Amino acid sequence: MLAAYACDPAQTQGRRFPESDAPTRNAFQRDRDRIVHSTAFRRLVYKTQVFLNHEGDLFRTRLTHSLEVAQLARSMARSLGLHEDLVEAIALAHDLGHTPFGHAGQDALNECMAPYGGFEHNLQSLRVVDSLEERYPQFDGLNLCFETREGILKHCSLRNAQLLEAQEPGGVAARFLTKSQPSLEAQLCNIADEMAYNAHDIDDGVRSGLINMAQLEEVALFDDYRRHVQVEFSALSGRRLLYEAIRRMLSDQVYDVLNATQNALAQYEPVSVAAVRTAPALVQFSAPMQQRSTQLKSFLLHHLYRHPQVMQTTDWARQVVGELFAAYLAKPDEMPQGHAKRDNLPRAVADYIAGMTDRFASREHTRMVGQLPAPSHQP
Ligand code: MG
Repeated sequence: MLAAYACDPAQTQGRRFPESDAPTRNAFQRDRDRIVHSTAFRRLVYKTQVFLNHEGDLFRTRLTHSLEVAQLARSMARSLGLHEDLVEAIALAHDLGHTPFGHAGQDALNECMAPYGGFEHNLQSLRVVDSLEERYPQFDGLNLCFETREGILKHCSLRNAQLLEAQEPGGVAARFLTKSQPSLEAQLCNIADEMAYNAHDIDDGVRSGLINMAQLEEVALFDDYRRHVQVEFSALSGRRLLYEAIRRMLSDQVYDVLNATQNALAQYEPVSVAAVRTAPALVQFSAPMQQRSTQLKSFLLHHLYRHPQVMQTTDWARQVVGELFAAYLAKPDEMPQGHAKRDNLPRAVADYIAGMTDRFASREHTRMVGQLPAPSHQP
């Protein structure tokens, strides 16, 4: 069922440290399994997506977000004839490099690391699977296939791409220098990520009370479905109305991507993965859906991510991460030996903090710096 333009595990560009094939699993299944068993994957359950963990048990975390991305990406991969195991591996690993406290943590760490080469979460996800996981006797990291690593490195600055390229010529960063495309599996995970967070942030946003259905009337992508549902089920209101509108929105986005991508595939007719790489990006929304999705993103940015209550938490998280970074830099021996003894101390501190869960970072901050109570907004 695999299309000619799909990645084939039998034709993988390989692992950095050669290993013999597994008897019953293909190379991408094996990658997926390695990711699921990694320490960084387990920590995703205690990492913030938008809402801090203590703000409620029902909000998305990085783990549930990653599972939703994997589900969306797999179901689309199957109808496009792409490799489902590869898509699942990329989706489950795509956020492994995320810091505690969501984007606030990442921005703070990037500021702290500005004099030392900065901090990018996509690059950090690659660092986790390439070197930071310590599970195997023969190598650092998980020794994943090229195709999985390529999908994990979804964005990369030019400077970091050049540094990576110097270490691994023609490797996963080369495409940022040659401006070519990654596999369709990687492209699919990107769009599934966007679809997943747009949908679940509406859900979490409304349930938290920070945004409401009336405000969402300005968002055509959501409101059209909401109105259709209310015509069909006039008595419906509250959560069931919200869930049904989101469900229809997601479902239409899936069919839109499948349609638009199939049209692009018909136009460019890539006959191999190599042909996919030199074509323009082929996994896409139709133009009208892209426009509606952009409008929704901008709504969420202004009304949810920049909501005063979210900003209050964000400011707190930035302070925690910034102060923690300074504290470890001044007292490296407060970190575990493996980090304290590394040559590049600022990078060792960044790796250590990036790996923390929200609550561990908060506890360490209290221990090293002093109590700084988190703003509490129980819904
Ligand atoms: Mg994501």
